[in-house]
Amino acid sequence: MIIADYHTHTVFSHGKGTIEENVERARLMGLKEVAITDHGLNHMVFGLSDRKLIKMRKIIDDLNDKYQDIKVLLGVESNIISRSGVIDIKPHEFQLFDIVLCGYHKVVWGKNLTETVKFIGKNDIMQVFNKADKPSLVKANTKTLIESVMNNPIDVLTHPNHDMVIDPVEVAKVARDYGTYYELNGKKINVSDEVLQKIADTGVEFIINSDAHTANRVGEVNFPLEVMKRVGIRESQVANFNKIPKFRSQGR
Ligand SMILES: [Zn+2]
Ligand SMILES: [Zn+2]
Repeated sequence: MIIADYHTHTVFSHGKGTIEENVERARLMGLKEVAITDHGLNHMVFGLSDRKLIKMRKIIDDLNDKYQDIKVLLGVESNIISRSGVIDIKPHEFQLFDIVLCGYHKVVWGKNLTETVKFIGKNDIMQVFNKADKPSLVKANTKTLIESVMNNPIDVLTHPNHDMVIDPVEVAKVARDYGTYYELNGKKINVSDEVLQKIADTGVEFIINSDAHTANRVGEVNFPLEVMKRVGIRESQVANFNKIPKFRSQGR
């Protein structure tokens, strides 16, 4: 079974639950670890701030003192903010977190105005016009995500292929080489079973997370578990299946 959930949102971004409510639910689900991973700083609407982070760390420290049966991690779901794979967590900011996730998100400020228009704006508009799988764009996006993984100690790539179309097999190879987990998300797995099989064949390690936005969905991973079984992904290839993973950002 999945014994830890490393992707949950709270009221600190656009989730509905408090940190403690997420933790309570995780305990109820029998989890050994849970990460609070609200959206990175460049999200136009939901982004974290330094002030919020200080508050979150205090709450999480207190919860770790209060509960002996679960470990709570302070994390972040960072955004990709440039064509060259820059993310909105700077190298010196990694030390603020116990885990750093990264995914492409719409409605994010780019690194600067040019990136907001040419990278994020372009991907978002191509989605609207159903042209997000244009080969030249897919090629550019694949390179972007690969550079993110190579240049930042990202622990988990969240919902790959969602809103930014990539070649997931090429990304998986680099994630495997750099020790970044490929997420099987609780709600969206944006590849076919055939492609997922090819991703598994690269040897990349998966991680299964809920991406809960309400406390009652923390630890809810039936959908990715079904996909895992259907495709025939081995338990040993899933980092949080009956075991606690180590993370690259923490010197894995
Ligand atoms: Zn996300
Ligand atoms: Zn998320």
